[in-house]
Amino acid sequence: MGRIASKFGGTSVADANQFRKIRDIVTADPRRRVIVPSAPGKRHKEDPKVTDLLYLCHEMAVAKTGFVTPFNQLRDRFLEIEKDLGVDAGMAAELATFHREVEAGATRDFVASRGEYFSGRLMAAFLGAVFIDPADYVVMDAAGNVQPQSYAALGNAMADETKLYVMPGFYGRDLHGKVKTFSRGGSDISGAIAARAVMAEMYENWTDVSGLLMADPRIVQNPCHMDQVTYREIRELSYMGASVFHDEAILPVREAKIPITIKNTNRPLDPGTVIVPKFTESKYKIAGIAGKKHFSMINLEKSLMNKEVGFVHNVLGVLAMHGISFEHCPTSIDSMSVIVDDKQMEEKGELVMEEIRRAVNPDKIELLGDLALIAVVGEELVATVGMAALVFDSLRDAGVNIRVINQGASEMNIIIGVKEDDYEKAVRALYAAFVKL
Ligand code: ASP
Repeated sequence: MGRIASKFGGTSVADANQFRKIRDIVTADPRRRVIVPSAPGKRHKEDPKVTDLLYLCHEMAVAKTGFVTPFNQLRDRFLEIEKDLGVDAGMAAELATFHREVEAGATRDFVASRGEYFSGRLMAAFLGAVFIDPADYVVMDAAGNVQPQSYAALGNAMADETKLYVMPGFYGRDLHGKVKTFSRGGSDISGAIAARAVMAEMYENWTDVSGLLMADPRIVQNPCHMDQVTYREIRELSYMGASVFHDEAILPVREAKIPITIKNTNRPLDPGTVIVPKFTESKYKIAGIAGKKHFSMINLEKSLMNKEVGFVHNVLGVLAMHGISFEHCPTSIDSMSVIVDDKQMEEKGELVMEEIRRAVNPDKIELLGDLALIAVVGEELVATVGMAALVFDSLRDAGVNIRVINQGASEMNIIIGVKEDDYEKAVRALYAAFVKL
């Protein structure tokens, strides 16, 4: 029997009641043998996240102001969960030790990691599971890249398929053996590492939504959930601003072709979204729509530009000299455009224009700001007749002027540039055209 690795996010472990839901989920499917919890998150809107309280403790300890308030808050939180669950996970002693460690100058990463550590201790006691400390197995370099030997080490530690294991998320150790955390939201990465280490048949990511949405719910009212989406589509969508789960969490499972399911701890029977290695079928022509504001576009025109060796190279060379990376670069026979993120350009706009002028002597050059980019993403998109026409027609009907259109080389997205003011209108029009046919 293959195993399932299940990661539970902050709201899924926010209180004892949530822990009970997890127990029910775990017992509902005997393949769920590897559990990766986050630190307790918000129980309601104003509630602090444990990880934020931990960072505060560390900051206050460094500033030598004492850290009573945040410490008491998080201590009460863990003691309450332990009491409510009726287990003995040794929390009082663990917390007292932790207090001394912070006072003695524990590192920021170590302090932050304790949210997951305590949560994992509680979960292991509650489920009667073996506790696995990721600091013993998951090794990262300074940039946070997981060292490949971590998988085998962790796989060995969790080799017994009959046992239930709990491994806290968010941290491991650095090359010198010190506790090191991933970036925020990094328990997603830990879950993916655990799934890969045991070669799970599925990586479940339990959260508080019933899957990924096809568009931003702040713009489109009640967007549909994606039922199935490929790794590639997810990468494109998250790159274009869709808030899916942690970017880097895809890589460990993608390499091992392990599918990911996004599920809702509060509604476990909802199907959720499955992220799969290879496209099979989909109800809609697209996976989703995502977009971002605040781009600028450099437009260049020069007759016979296509015959001039090194033209594009020289233009992009100027950007490279200023450390500016570009997002898209659509070209035609006598013109090219380069789209860059406003944050990259900052104050350098005029200077960059002047240098490009000198480098390639164009017939015309202009810099247009106020640009929003929208990506319509779907593996089937480019192979299907009439998709670009649908983009044009829907935006024309909505009265939106298209300033750029570019088909990604990955052949699964169409990028549309519109004025920032038209952004929401355009997203709604495209959603209506592609999803609500
Ligand atoms: N607890 C960490 C955070 O708040 C990691 C996570 O929850 O994924 O960022």
